[in-house]
Parts: sequence; C-alpha cells; structure tokens
Amino acid sequence: MEFYSSQINNLVEQLSRLPGIGAKSAQRIAFHILNMREDQAFALAGAITSAKKNVRCCKECCTYTDDELCPICRSPQRNHRQIMVVENPRDMAAYEKTGRYDGVYHVLHGAISPMAGIGPQDIKLSELMVRLQADVDEVIVATNKNLEGDTTATYISKLVKPLGIKVSRIASGVPAGGDLEYIDEVTLYRALEGRTDM
Ligand code: ZN
Repeated sequence: MEFYSSQINNLVEQLSRLPGIGAKSAQRIAFHILNMREDQAFALAGAITSAKKNVRCCKECCTYTDDELCPICRSPQRNHRQIMVVENPRDMAAYEKTGRYDGVYHVLHGAISPMAGIGPQDIKLSELMVRLQADVDEVIVATNKNLEGDTTATYISKLVKPLGIKVSRIASGVPAGGDLEYIDEVTLYRALEGRTDM
C-alpha cells in the first residue's frame, strides 16, 4: 500500500482494526471519510474521542453509561432484588426492548472461554459477587446459549447457590448458539418467562 500517503495508510490501518473490516473495506471507508464534508468528518472523530473520554462502566451493573450509575440502577421503579446477568450491553438493550422485565442487570463484558484464554477473572464476576452481599432474591443467568455462555452459567450457579440465592437460567426458546442480540423480543420474553432453576 506504499502508493498511498502515510496519512492515508495510517487511517486505513486504524480502520482495519475494527471488527469485520478487512483491508478492502478499510480503504473504501478511508476514502469515504476523505470525501466527507469537513464538519461531518470532524463530528465522527469527535464522537469517538468524546465517547472514549466520557463513557464508563456503571458502578453497580457495569454497563456503559455517562454517569456514575446507569438510568436502570438509579431507578426506584426497578426491582433491585432481581439481577439478570448478561454478557454485554447489547444483550441488556435487547431485554430492555421487551419492556417486560423490571429487575436490574449485571453486565459481564464477556463469557468464560478456556479456548480463548478468558477466565472468570477476566469478566465482571467479582463485581457481581459484591452486589450479592445486599438483599437479592434471584440471579437470572441470561448468558448466550452456547458453550461459553453455558460454562459461564454453570460457574455463576456454583458461586451464587451457596449464598442461598435462587439462580435461574433463561429457557431454551433461544436457539442453541443463538446470539441474544438477533433474537426478536417475543422469543426473548418467552425465554425469560420460561426460565428454570439451576
Ligand atoms: Zn447500572
């Protein structure tokens, strides 16, 4: 790619680090950005800088938020004794879209995967255990229905049950290997309603 200037090469290289963006797409996007109106391109760059600077993990549930606590953790309308454990903020958003869950969440930011070298200490599990020192009635494990999600669910169950807290797992209405994000709201709600004790 030596025929491009070093500035362009740098832009292409940065873009190619994004998920699902290969070398060709990175070049296409780089030239698209160069052709954009200046104010739009600066707005894009500014949004990245500002989000990286200001977005942080909620002190309580670890989802991404602009404040110390996310709106759900702050809400007195939510049942803080029921915690749904999800792998990422997108899964949390998917359950919120059903509009039928009034508990709170805990975002792990991943799942245990021995194959990928991701252990229990690499996800937000210790943060969950801290929360369980307060009065909690139920932990609903809504990790994905695949090897990593199931491994994580079993691990959580073993940690939480000895505390005398009910642990349940979302039903298999969610197809095996299914990414929660792409499942429609009705299916997601049924999986939640049909959850079983672990
Ligand atoms: Zn929160």
